Amino acid sequence: MKTHTELVHLGRDDEQFSGLVNAPVCRASTYLFPTVSALKDAQRDKQENLYYGRFGTQTVKQLQSACRALDGGHGAMIYPSGLAAIARVLGALLSPGDHILVVDTVYGPVRDFCENELKRLGVTATFYAPDDPDALAAAIRDETKVIFCESPGTMTFELQDIRRVVAIAAGRGVATVIDNTWATPYFFRPLDHGIDITVQSASKYLGGHSDVMLGVAVSNERFWPVLQKSTALYGNSVSPDDCYLALRGLRTLGVRLDRHFESTLKVARWLETRPEISVVHYPALESSPDHALWRCDFSGASGLFAIEFPVGVSDAQTEAFADGLELFGIGVSWGGFESLAIPGHFRRNGPSRVKGPVLRLHIGLEDTSDLIGDLARALEAHFPADSHSAPGYELS
Ligand SMILES: *Cc1c(COP(=O)(O)O)cnc(C)c1O
Repeated sequence: MKTHTELVHLGRDDEQFSGLVNAPVCRASTYLFPTVSALKDAQRDKQENLYYGRFGTQTVKQLQSACRALDGGHGAMIYPSGLAAIARVLGALLSPGDHILVVDTVYGPVRDFCENELKRLGVTATFYAPDDPDALAAAIRDETKVIFCESPGTMTFELQDIRRVVAIAAGRGVATVIDNTWATPYFFRPLDHGIDITVQSASKYLGGHSDVMLGVAVSNERFWPVLQKSTALYGNSVSPDDCYLALRGLRTLGVRLDRHFESTLKVARWLETRPEISVVHYPALESSPDHALWRCDFSGASGLFAIEFPVGVSDAQTEAFADGLELFGIGVSWGGFESLAIPGHFRRNGPSRVKGPVLRLHIGLEDTSDLIGDLARALEAHFPADSHSAPGYELS
């Protein structure tokens, strides 16, 4: 089955629910059994069987099954948020005295988790450059248990050579984990490339409508028992209502992402022609230093990217530009149908590609001519033409 067909069928069990296309939201704490021995049977595999609400009702298990298949994994776990998924995965893999290598372009709250909570638990984290696999290989210690990747990285969209990371880790018996929120398994399936556990925030594209918080971790066979056990021990549980929304979002993931990709490429290409902007950070652009890597690994690109203004443009001017946009909302959690703009704040240990102020954009499902018109109007209002003299500048 091709992915668009899979997305229609995954996780569904029409027979179980008298032919309903969408299974009802199954809410439960307690399941009743006809006999004690039937309860004991269910108890043997609490994850697989319907046993107790904490381990998931039918709705939760449908989402787990769909996510497992979509990523081509051995098992999937659903968490109350993307960050909760990452925290639990790392907690499951690391013990006091261990070391983790985390990509320097990582999502800020994951950096905070590593620097605070992992540290408190006796785990040391060091941050590695996304574009230097030799340095990554050299940074592995005897105590290194996990390499954490995010590709492209938050805010600056640098890609990592995942094949090389996997090769480096495999030689040293280190587990690999990736935050695949940006691409989703629709554009990139990390487990196919040898990654051990892939995580995504389902609050973004999987939900797709800015109305649900959830996270997903999909594991290969090797790490599934560890992940499953740790998740159960911590009492993780998610709402079937939220899982219903995620399943509903999943049905249109492909058509939405195809449209996000097409529209974002159009808007990004237009932004590249603007003299007010120095760099458009989007690996799907031919001008990106990561373009060859992107073509090799990804089957598309999502709607999140960043524009960089020249050095000298102030944060206040960048903010005024964002405030001046009418069709772009100002808000953090992208992946919905709506366009967004937010100034990029990021911390890095190593040097960054980015020199000037950055604005992160999410291109939603609106008509691109309206979005480009909005961007053009705000650029002209906040970057008057006589303030620069780059060739090709035109009022469109
Ligand atoms: C939003 C996000 C997360 C966290 O997901 P939540 O569902 O908000 O907890 C993790 N990684 C990336 C790259 C994100 O953008």
